[in-house]
Amino acid sequence: MSNVIVKKVAVLGAGVMGAQIAAHCINARVPVMLFDLPGKEGQPRNALAERALETLKKLNPVPLADADQAGLIEIGNFDDDLGKLAQADLVIEAIAERMDWKHALYARIAPHIAPHAIFATNTSGLSITELSSGLDGELKPRFCGVHFFNPPRYMHLVELIPTASTEAGILDRLESFLTTTLAKGVVRAIDTPNFIANRVGIFGMLATMHEAEKFGLSYDLVDDLTGSRLGRAKSGTFRTADVVGLDTMGHVIRTMTDKLPNDPFAALYQQPAALQQLIAAGSLGQKCGAGFYKKVGKDILRYDAAKNDYLPSGAKADELIARILKEKNPAKRMRALHDSSHPQGQLLWAIFRDTFHYIAVHLESIADNARDLDFALRWGFGWKQGPLELWQAAGWQQLAQWVKEDIESGKALSSAPLPAWVFKDGGAERDGMHSAQGSWSPARQAYVPRSSLPVYQRQLFRAALIGEQAVDGASAGITVHEDEAVRLWHQGDDVLLLSFKTKMHVMGPDVIAGLERAVTEAEQKYRALVIWHPDSAEGGAFSAGADLQAMLPMFMSGGVKAIEPFVARFQNAQMRVKYANVPVVAAVGGLALGGGCELLMHASRRVALLESYIGLVEVGIGLLPAGGGLKEIALRSAREAKGNDILQFLKSRFTNAATAAVSKSAPEAKKMGYLSKGDVIVLHSHELLHVAKTQALAMADAGYRPPLSTLIPVAGRYGIATIKAQLVNMREGGFISSHDEHIASLIADIVCGGDIEPGSRVSEQWLLDKERAGFMSLLAHPKTQERIMGMLQTGKPVRN
Ligand code: NAD
Repeated sequence: MSNVIVKKVAVLGAGVMGAQIAAHCINARVPVMLFDLPGKEGQPRNALAERALETLKKLNPVPLADADQAGLIEIGNFDDDLGKLAQADLVIEAIAERMDWKHALYARIAPHIAPHAIFATNTSGLSITELSSGLDGELKPRFCGVHFFNPPRYMHLVELIPTASTEAGILDRLESFLTTTLAKGVVRAIDTPNFIANRVGIFGMLATMHEAEKFGLSYDLVDDLTGSRLGRAKSGTFRTADVVGLDTMGHVIRTMTDKLPNDPFAALYQQPAALQQLIAAGSLGQKCGAGFYKKVGKDILRYDAAKNDYLPSGAKADELIARILKEKNPAKRMRALHDSSHPQGQLLWAIFRDTFHYIAVHLESIADNARDLDFALRWGFGWKQGPLELWQAAGWQQLAQWVKEDIESGKALSSAPLPAWVFKDGGAERDGMHSAQGSWSPARQAYVPRSSLPVYQRQLFRAALIGEQAVDGASAGITVHEDEAVRLWHQGDDVLLLSFKTKMHVMGPDVIAGLERAVTEAEQKYRALVIWHPDSAEGGAFSAGADLQAMLPMFMSGGVKAIEPFVARFQNAQMRVKYANVPVVAAVGGLALGGGCELLMHASRRVALLESYIGLVEVGIGLLPAGGGLKEIALRSAREAKGNDILQFLKSRFTNAATAAVSKSAPEAKKMGYLSKGDVIVLHSHELLHVAKTQALAMADAGYRPPLSTLIPVAGRYGIATIKAQLVNMREGGFISSHDEHIASLIADIVCGGDIEPGSRVSEQWLLDKERAGFMSLLAHPKTQERIMGMLQTGKPVRN
């Protein structure tokens, strides 16, 4: 693969976007400098950038995976520190959205940019070509647009926008860096106003606002109709506008008004009256506490433009429409909406039609191909499915016909006809935009295959599109064994893969059997075992722990005692993993709770996504970790103590387990001790499998041997007494209930090895037996049973 070396990044502008982009560089362990204007008279020189670092710590969702690392962002200002720019291999400009301000800044900084560095702007929609106009011939080929979405840590999309002068190699280098290092989904866009995602997404919002007005439907009702029921962001249309900021949205619309006067949909490129009223009143959305919605006490009120007042909200979709939207078959669903005489059904058909119409007319000018448009909306606006994918899935020709009829009868927002390619695909009728050969490009009149940049070889499975076959059939793998609970398989490289098939990858007896089988198979025929689940690429869990539902029948037929053999088997399986003769690598992402956390603790190594939420949460349901989690806590604390006071090293680990603390990221999980120092953190979820396999094979190559089992020195009765004294205080202070105290005491007893002399040495099995005994005693406890039943019935922890 080509070398992409970005040793240091400079971000210009420490506002909402600049500060968060810098934070994300730190998440990716890329050194970064953040610049803003110098402070005013009497203020510190870096006052603005300093304030930005403070804001970073308060934002939600959190921009930094490790909040303590804000100080790693090097700060400076445009007057004193321009000389430092020469250190950067990539300079990202993210100052306020004004062409003249950006030009003025470029003129000042250009002489300081290193001769090899890439210079990119994060503009939301200004012309990249116009922005580049003042740059000299030497810098111009290294300039392009790099459009992140807010919040940049979490929004997957980055649009990459070249000018006619941008050197192709620069774009490839930047795409590789953005993909593998910053974990983004890169889409290349054409230099047109607002690029792809905002152009289509904001049009969609404007069209929805327009149609809502036409059908006389209130904002709260429209939001309920256009949110998760459509597979889009929960916040629907108007609440999304509030979150984005009505002023920001106003800017994006203004760009369309100014730059697209001859667009066939230009009549719609105006700020709707209600939006104007709100902006004029300074009600700019969430950040101001008022916008289309306002929170008053516990109530959320909705704006009513006609009355210029806030009214009670909470309207929900009509039962009939809700049922249509639940229909799984997209063709039936779309037909029902199209044929509906209900105003809510008509609204929904109208906004689908408007979007289909719009993208058909504009695809050729804004994107190279259908895939780029669909991914832009999926990754930039959180739509589960791209609009062209949906059109294809719902029956391309039928929908095209309906859109055409609405255009001809004047129901559509513009009279612009659908382009010929909508109906014809060469000599045949078109049936969609995505096919085995690639995705349709109206500009090239051809199906365009996926990018062949080497960076994508790291993605053994790439984000898929409806209509497209598996990108690479071979990578789908060869199955060795498959049942209801697990799949054992490989990709022809001596690494056995184990994937769970249960919901949230919970572990019942069948999954445990699969785990045992995987270790046996791997030891006999493979060089390594990797535990990886395909949906980890889309935010799926590593494992939500033991399967409570699966335990219920055992409990019903044989009572508490009937569960014990399962717990013992679960513990044995963990020990098989730990002492397997081949390396077992856990490829972790998303939730890894309870037994899931214990499983990864017993693996030989962990490769974890940045977005990993790991913890021993058993106390939430009145239980304690009995899959070796507490044993590992005792063992790791003793190892770190190296003969010193074990309790010092045990305390925070004990507290994490006793309070069911869960990490908010992989670095935090390292601090909590659930991940080890040498574990690898991966940013891009589609690269997880590749890195896990690479690690596993490297360990095998290095002559892997499982750990030698040793006796573990424990804190004993001294440790238990110290912890218990604190628990009494916590209960008396009202911080924990008496049942919490009881569970925590049991946990203390286990991690300290029991009522024995401090410093005594115990075996792993000794600790496992104590875990199991504690677990069984809790299971028989009425308060624990109350917690478990509550969780099974409502999915929420019961406090008792
Ligand atoms: P912001 O207002 O939060 O921050 C802008 C920063 O630019 C401020 O820190 C300000 O001090 C600095 N600044 C203002 N005038 C300046 C000047 N004349 N010279 C140098 N610095 C100056 O803005 P933001 O939301 O972070 O947006 C920054 C850029 O990112 C814009 O181009 C915007 O279009 C784009 N963008 C914004 C979003 C978003 O959702 N906010 C999303 C994607 C892209």
